[in-house]
Amino acid sequence: NKLRGHLYYASDEDDSSRSSRHQKQQMKEQLLSALNENRLVLFYQPILNLNTNSISHCECLVRLLDDEGQFIAPANFIGIASEAGLMPKLDYCVIEKAMRQQCLWEDSGIATGLSINVTAPTLEQADFKQRIEDLIQLTGANPHRLIFEIVETDAISNLSVTRDLLNHFKTIGAKIAFDDFGVGFTSFEYVRDLPVDYIKIDQSFVRFIHEREQDRVLVKSMVEMSHSLGKSVIVEGVESRAALDIVKEMGVEYVQGYHVCRPMPISALDLSLHLRH
Ligand code: C2E
Ligand code: MG
Ligand code: MG
Ligand code: MG
Repeated sequence: NKLRGHLYYASDEDDSSRSSRHQKQQMKEQLLSALNENRLVLFYQPILNLNTNSISHCECLVRLLDDEGQFIAPANFIGIASEAGLMPKLDYCVIEKAMRQQCLWEDSGIATGLSINVTAPTLEQADFKQRIEDLIQLTGANPHRLIFEIVETDAISNLSVTRDLLNHFKTIGAKIAFDDFGVGFTSFEYVRDLPVDYIKIDQSFVRFIHEREQDRVLVKSMVEMSHSLGKSVIVEGVESRAALDIVKEMGVEYVQGYHVCRPMPISALDLSLHLRH
């Protein structure tokens, strides 16, 4: 599959639940050893600011380097990590790596930001704020260059606790994005009550937007709503020039997708990317 690029995906076609349980167990063990042996690797996907035609920040996307030197995509292990209670460990590992990278960029005078995915089990940890403070101290990262991406449905369990946490992020200078917007349940309440800076419209509304009138109607209304509330819009899943032109016309500020750039290891990343006209 072209879109999956060089990433290895474990087969999801098991003929018995026993072998699938076995596979899950294996993946869990692989994940545990990867966490212990520092074999989680960050890929970086540039996000283009359409107003400046330059890369404003990159999303950090985790991959697991397996025994055979292949990168395993998160779809294969995030679910397993959640079930096994390993998400906080994974999230802190990613946050630390991202912060170290930001610090390297900061030292080189590179103003590109980094956005980091954080999940509910991590946000709900009693010492989460302290851990973030400690990691900032440890790594020397500049929190003003960090964006935390929260999946809207993830924030559900306790609105006031989430609000307090997000406000804390704001006080240290970091920004907040709502990830996968539009596919959850109580979007409007969250947009109203939580201090988010960016709305990231889910890729399922974007990938075929040039072919689907309904997607155009929905994205346009999400963009208008976000702008009316003073929030900037990032659209994910921009895979074609046609899709890009449509969202640009709608006033979307930021785009992310294979048409702009795929997620890359740090060594392959080009921060001087821009759109050719
Ligand atoms: P997400 O946060 O919504 O990240 C965007 C996903 O869309 C990434 O998949 C990215 O590679 C993919 N993508 C980017 N552009 C396109 C495009 O044009 N077309 C299509 N079809 N896909 C595109 P990836 O890296 O496989 O990650 C999947 C999900 O796994 C992420 O969705 C996020 O929810 C989770 N994830 C990834 N890395 C991390 C991490 O470090 N921590 C946590 N907690 N979750 C992560
Ligand atoms: Mg994300
Ligand atoms: Mg997303
Ligand atoms: Mg997603």
